[in-house]
Amino acid sequence: MPSELISVADEQHTIETRLLPLKVYHGAIWHLREGWVIQLKDDVSSASKRFTLFHEAFHILAHCRTTPVFRKRGTMQGSFNELLADYFATCILMPKEWVKKKWAEVKDVDVMAEMFDAPKSAMWLRLRQLGLV
Ligand SMILES: [Zn+2]
Repeated sequence: MPSELISVADEQHTIETRLLPLKVYHGAIWHLREGWVIQLKDDVSSASKRFTLFHEAFHILAHCRTTPVFRKRGTMQGSFNELLADYFATCILMPKEWVKKKWAEVKDVDVMAEMFDAPKSAMWLRLRQLGLV
């Protein structure tokens, strides 16, 4: 787990990652007095955990650097934040130039997903974002 990287999401508080047998969600964040806790579903692939970890870290970042766009409530804003969190996770796990370079060599989503240790669905998303598929 790249937990050192996660700590920069909020440098004022500790961020602890806990693996739990979550049923409904792949991840969740809790803001406790002493810091943040990111809960991750334990019985999924490491790729899926990594993706969820960065997704949740985005919510912490967004919370700490509150701007009007994040302060709004409501379903629309909620789902927009989820899209942003997914986008953030794909950008961190699958850096643009690296994906472009490797895709030119590999041209195989399964191999790419394994290479970047990212969920296959996230790799598809990233390839579409970059206009490669
Ligand atoms: Zn989320």
